[in-house]
Amino acid sequence: MVKKGVLAIVSGFSGVGKGTVVDHMKKIHPFTLSVSATTRDPRPGEVEGKSYFFITEDDFKAKAEQGWFLEWAHYTKGSYGTPKQPVLDALSRGEDVLLEIEAQGARQVKEQYPDALLIFVLPPTFAELYHRLTGRGTETKEAIEARLQRAMEEFREIPGYDAVVVNETIEGCADEILSLMEARRTTPAAQKAFIDGLEEEAKRFMEALQTEKGE
Ligand code: 5GP
Repeated sequence: MVKKGVLAIVSGFSGVGKGTVVDHMKKIHPFTLSVSATTRDPRPGEVEGKSYFFITEDDFKAKAEQGWFLEWAHYTKGSYGTPKQPVLDALSRGEDVLLEIEAQGARQVKEQYPDALLIFVLPPTFAELYHRLTGRGTETKEAIEARLQRAMEEFREIPGYDAVVVNETIEGCADEILSLMEARRTTPAAQKAFIDGLEEEAKRFMEALQTEKGE
């Protein structure tokens, strides 16, 4: 079989723990994690070029016009986009690539790459999501309500995804996502090169067999 890179997208409600799950996945399986560009301000602890590339609105606009992004979208506090070239380079090297992006962007990627695997991470309950958001202790009641309101809107995006995973535990959720990525490698589309090669070989084999019979 062919070892081809999987392009996976992980989305989920704010506070569901996507980032922690993705960090845990990295400990188990190597993949390229795309670093997005954003116009929002850095939060304490965020590192330029690692968390995001923090750029100006003008720069973002220019890059969007130049086709520099694989996808981009506006989200509550700014614009966010996936730099295209690093994703294409990693995929051509046969590496798995993971994008942690929201639903509008996920839809744009799926249009360009129907083989992309779209995963939506859900909380076990909505009350648990509230609990996790308040547990951070970093945000006002209003900001938390805005995130929950946004989650209410995101429910309608879920049917466009290939899979949903419930984040009961970080380890379990990470394992499930990695299994889905592994399974993606076995689709006929992912294995097209192998199947085409096998068919060519089959043709040659059958021709040789016929020739042998005719002799
Ligand atoms: P945050 O501001 O909390 O870091 O991210 C807000 C939302 O933007 C999250 O849902 C995150 O997944 C999403 N996001 C981050 N980078 C990108 C990107 O490059 N493209 C899109 N479409 N969404 C992104």
